[in-house]
Amino acid sequence: MMNYMYPSAIGAGCGPLLQSGAAKAASLRLQFFQHVRANGRAARADVARALKISAGSATAVTSDLIASGLLQEVSEQTRETGRGRPSVALEVVPTAAYVVGIKLSSRRHCAVLTDFVGNVLAGVTLPSNNRRRSLQELLDQITSLIDMLVQQAEISVDDIDAVGIGVPGIVDMENGVVRWCSLLQDDDVDLAPAFAVRFDMPLFIDNDTNMLTLAELWFGEGRDKTDFAVVTIENGVGMGLVVNNTLYRGSHGVGLELGHTKVQMDGALCRCGQRGCLEAYLGDYALTREVGVALDLGEARHRTPEDLLDLLFEEAKSGNAAAKTIFRRAGRYLAVGLSNVVQLFDPPLIIISGERTRYDYLFADEVLAEMKTMTLSDVRQPCAIAIRPWDDMVWAHGAAVPAISALSDKLVADCEMSNT
Ligand SMILES: [Zn+2]
Repeated sequence: MMNYMYPSAIGAGCGPLLQSGAAKAASLRLQFFQHVRANGRAARADVARALKISAGSATAVTSDLIASGLLQEVSEQTRETGRGRPSVALEVVPTAAYVVGIKLSSRRHCAVLTDFVGNVLAGVTLPSNNRRRSLQELLDQITSLIDMLVQQAEISVDDIDAVGIGVPGIVDMENGVVRWCSLLQDDDVDLAPAFAVRFDMPLFIDNDTNMLTLAELWFGEGRDKTDFAVVTIENGVGMGLVVNNTLYRGSHGVGLELGHTKVQMDGALCRCGQRGCLEAYLGDYALTREVGVALDLGEARHRTPEDLLDLLFEEAKSGNAAAKTIFRRAGRYLAVGLSNVVQLFDPPLIIISGERTRYDYLFADEVLAEMKTMTLSDVRQPCAIAIRPWDDMVWAHGAAVPAISALSDKLVADCEMSNT
């Protein structure tokens, strides 16, 4: 079933290409390791030049990292060396660790298994539903996903070193606690401690939109950007933000709630209980609110909101003026939301992602033109907009990032301990 190959390719490297403040403050060995990983392959001398260290230091660090099984030498036949001896480059040993990334949602759960450089080795999905569940039920579903991955990749559970999970909700990352999640019956659920009892390996949890943003920062179009924003249109409207090559998380694990910024005083009622939120004009329930006016529903009345939306979209495509009007208004509100993001953060790029990107009316040329009109642009370079085709495997891939990152820190620190 695996068709997800976006976007990392063997040898292309992964992780931010630009160093964040934290990365610059990391130990020399970790900086060296991260530089090689980001470039896919790098000659020792090139790393030494980039990190401004002597050839002697580079040789010492390289031999430590090779002895610890984290880096390996590969010969490269470049054009310059084509007729002579192949040059030797360094790369991260992909099999040094295996990591699982999981996206949990009310529609279907997705999971990928990656190697130590983020290459996707297996990918699986499991049907889900809107019902709130107990911690044990959720753990059983996570267990099923891991079992399916292990089978597909023909490895053992013991080969997996860490797991990352993105949930739709509020997360205390540090303690691995899900403060609130639409999938769980209870608040303040100790998911990571309960997981560690069952699996004896670390679990990293984050808000799902943050995981998607990390996927763009590590594997996607954000790799070479200092700053960029991700806007997701799903059941609700979310946002992720990278500032100075680092994911901005805010203070309370909530994620950036673009969907609940106000775009109309005393406007439409939002599911959060307030009025005039962007989401009240752009979310599923906003689009289906008027579906009865646009369509003669009949039996379709009892369909799920998702099915009703698909029906509405088909109608709009086949020329139904009322259905088109519904999508056009949602698109105009999206333009308002995007222009506000540009005004506040001035990113060079906004990536629009999420399940609803298949409704192309939402970002038709006139929507993007309207966004530009609403943005003060006298001295501003226009912000690029990238539309990411919907694929929730990308979210699962991003969920693997905190696990890969924490494992790298730990394994390189272990290497330091054994060589000092
Ligand atoms: Zn709201």
